[in-house]
Amino acid sequence: MLTPLLTNKELFTLLQLIKEARRIVVCAHRSPDGDALGASIGWTCYLRGLRKTTNIVMPNAFPDFLRSMPGAGMAVLFDKQNELSSHLIHEADLIFCLDFNALSRLEGMGEDIARAKAKKVIIDHHLDPDSSFTSLTISHPECSSTCEIIFRLIEQLGGFDAISHDAAAAIYTGMMTDTGGFTYNSNNPEIYTIISLLLTKGIDKDQLYRNVFNNYTESRIRLMGYVLFEKLRFLADGRASLFTLTRSDLDRFHYIRGDAEGFVNLPLQVRGNKLSISLREDTETDLIRVSLRSVGNFPCNKMATEFFNGGGHANASGGRLPWPMESAIATVEKAVEAYLPLLKTSTT
Ligand code: 5GP
Ligand code: MN
Repeated sequence: MLTPLLTNKELFTLLQLIKEARRIVVCAHRSPDGDALGASIGWTCYLRGLRKTTNIVMPNAFPDFLRSMPGAGMAVLFDKQNELSSHLIHEADLIFCLDFNALSRLEGMGEDIARAKAKKVIIDHHLDPDSSFTSLTISHPECSSTCEIIFRLIEQLGGFDAISHDAAAAIYTGMMTDTGGFTYNSNNPEIYTIISLLLTKGIDKDQLYRNVFNNYTESRIRLMGYVLFEKLRFLADGRASLFTLTRSDLDRFHYIRGDAEGFVNLPLQVRGNKLSISLREDTETDLIRVSLRSVGNFPCNKMATEFFNGGGHANASGGRLPWPMESAIATVEKAVEAYLPLLKTSTT
């Protein structure tokens, strides 16, 4: 029913790697989002079903609104439970790297993974995976989410019947969050075949939507109002926009991790805006987190690579800049200036 993702050779390699492994670690990128967490839970449930000792190790915590995801509690956090995380990573003989394409996306944890004796497998949908450290790279940028890839892998491996309700809920949640509730990157008809298969597991997709998108604190919605009213600026005659969030802005609204999630999409609701950029002072490091979103064929990943030490997808990218905020703002202004011709000609 679904187009197979893996060639027979890849399928054989993957099965062989799993068969030979006794202890497995599944990890995903820093600041795990719904896709990173959902894919890790779904894949871990599958591997545990094969009676493999499998643990999830994440570089740091995921946002509060993902706590309701069944299975979220099984994630060990490298920054908080450092000794246990290192132990699991160094004892493992197979490590799955989910939803990222290079170890730099793990920040500090990347060094431990690089040093670990385990064989490594990337399963991801970002462009240009770094295959230099892996035994197998399963890279499918045409897929909407890593969760979609995980579902297709499990199905191709003959594991559909064994997918539990909770694993189905986790996989669905990641597919939903990486497509903004199936409003972008979601035109492949097979996505809806997958959804209907997941629904046969008894998941309540409407509840899963509310758990993620209608589950915020009062502070978050007030912070959103403040950003839109006071902080949002339009550039390039309304073709681009920028807002910043400083630590003092965040403190004022009792910011907790994940509270600004999705804000960067909002300015794209304005007609004619093709590129939305946000700059947020990190609460843990001296970095400014850059998020970029675009519509149509404006490639914000190119801009992220060229100006913001980052990368990502054509319509959703990120990166980082050093402090202070003033110079980060100047970098954004320079980037918008450099891409002005493309902003004028790109189509939505
Ligand atoms: P967000 O704006 O949600 O932090 O990131 C959006 C997307 O941009 C992520 O899914 C990821 O693909 C990409 N991204 C974010 N930060 C970085 C980064 O520092 N480096 C690279 N290469 N990609 C990033
Ligand atoms: Mn993803």
